[in-house]
Amino acid sequence: MKVQAVGVGTPTPFAHNWGSSFLVSVGDDRILFDCGPGATAKMVDSGTKPTEITDLFLTHLHFDHVVDVPALLLSRWDQGAGLIPPLRTYGPQPTARFIEEIVGENGLFREDINARIGHPVSQRIHQNRGGSLPRPRPRTKETELVAGDHVRQKAWTVTAAHAQHVQPFLDCLAYRIDTDFGSVVFTGDTEPCESVTQLARGADVLFSMCWDLQARMERDGEDVGQTGTVGAGKMAADAGVSQLVLVHHGPQLDPVDQRDQALADVASVYDGPVVYAEQGFELDLT
Ligand SMILES: [Zn+2]
Repeated sequence: MKVQAVGVGTPTPFAHNWGSSFLVSVGDDRILFDCGPGATAKMVDSGTKPTEITDLFLTHLHFDHVVDVPALLLSRWDQGAGLIPPLRTYGPQPTARFIEEIVGENGLFREDINARIGHPVSQRIHQNRGGSLPRPRPRTKETELVAGDHVRQKAWTVTAAHAQHVQPFLDCLAYRIDTDFGSVVFTGDTEPCESVTQLARGADVLFSMCWDLQARMERDGEDVGQTGTVGAGKMAADAGVSQLVLVHHGPQLDPVDQRDQALADVASVYDGPVVYAEQGFELDLT
């Protein structure tokens, strides 16, 4: 099993860090957790084509986690030429409506989709890629999840848990993937909470949101619905995870001295190995 940090950022755009997205490769499956800004391009850049993605799990519908879903769905459909299975898509409600409003018959991209289905040259390109006519519309298979749900495939099981973030405006989930090679947890966006700690219990790796230094978050009133340095360390310690990876860093952690302070904060409460992950960080659990 390999985990790639496609995006470790937040809504604040940096050239090297913007939005959230993680790619898990296990067996023949390529499972994407969130699809933030530029995720599709960043995956292609590191060698994974949209057509290879088999499953998409969304933690919540904040744009820094989902804004690149249209690029993934449309490029996967176009390049797939009707020869690949529908993308299995999971997330809290209203994920099904969100997908429908992108690629459905009355969705945001209906003109593009209708043009590619109807125009002779688009049909020809589709056939040259191995597709047949009439050209099928984009197909996805949406499953809306609630805390406690499990999704089981041959090589993996994903479990969803409640993440305490910006309710009641958005439903938010954290995910754990269990495989023969190990267990990895993605907190998504959450404040430290018992449901995510329980989800992470005994996992090999916890990819935790780390918005900022704990003291600064508390001083500035940003410690509600979000996890900071000490919170991430405490969750890792309480859950007994073997390794902690800090992701979803806010802009104030960008300077090197701030990262050093972040790691020192975590080390004050968690004595396991900690990584401050950059975009492109990879973890091989095989
Ligand atoms: Zn969020």
